[in-house]
Amino acid sequence: MSAIDNLPPLREVIEEHGLAAKKALGQNFLLDLNLTSRIARTAGNLQGYDVIEVGPGPGGLTRALLANGAERVIAVERDPRCLNALAQISDYYHGKLEVIEGDALEINWEKLLNRKAKVISNLPYNIGTPLLTGWLGTKDWPPFFDSLTLMFQKEVAERICALPEDKHYGRLGVLCGWRTHATKAFDVSREAFSPPPKVTSSIVHIEPKAEPLPCSIKALETITRAAFGQRRKMLRASLKSLGGEALLEKAMITPTKRAEEIDVESFVRLANAL
Ligand code: SAM
Repeated sequence: MSAIDNLPPLREVIEEHGLAAKKALGQNFLLDLNLTSRIARTAGNLQGYDVIEVGPGPGGLTRALLANGAERVIAVERDPRCLNALAQISDYYHGKLEVIEGDALEINWEKLLNRKAKVISNLPYNIGTPLLTGWLGTKDWPPFFDSLTLMFQKEVAERICALPEDKHYGRLGVLCGWRTHATKAFDVSREAFSPPPKVTSSIVHIEPKAEPLPCSIKALETITRAAFGQRRKMLRASLKSLGGEALLEKAMITPTKRAEEIDVESFVRLANAL
């Protein structure tokens, strides 16, 4: 019996189902259900939402989501070894957990939903950024999610939440700042995982802006890649191949500025001027 439900402790689940962690799948499992409950609570009230979880693994976070009031959890897991353990959770919670075996990068999320979603996940580190940029690039806005509560490596979390003049400010900070408000909720030490990863992790909570400035994510990615690819250079040099001074003039930006000195709105003007 565990702290939040009458299911077996996660160590037993892992042993019973032979879930030795696979590095290639980014498997670092959380075993402390008090910690996974804290992550679930960071997403706020779960009632009235479909909850999406990427990579439930043995189900530590999944159980916390259900114990904290989630009415429907849709969990996408790539590792078939986890399915039996997850089926036990689904039985215990009377089918409130639906598990899809597959690759989260291939999923059409909107099609799975009956109502707005909250996405809450301890992401596999190797697909965290592509998943996030995919969600940020969602065609319709406001998007299918009401919030994203996600675990990243701490350094990635800092890039997501960074503002101009911050040493972590770059492409990810601009993409997130364009369409969302992102805040770091708390750090999670390496020891909380089994096996421990190389670096500290952080939980980030992201909420969509109601009316972000219109812009193509492709153009914004092109501009930020060029601008931050040579972040110490002035923009007239780093953006030379995209139009240089003429482009900057069109977007009303001083050509001697550096990428880290200009705000998200300026990047949006540049992307629209492209
Ligand atoms: N949620 C669990 C926890 O907190 O203990 C496991 C988190 S572990 C960091 C990442 C999980 O994502 C693993 O269970 C792994 O098998 C799964 N995974 C890896 N790549 C995936 C993919 N492309 N699509 C779906 N799940 C994936």
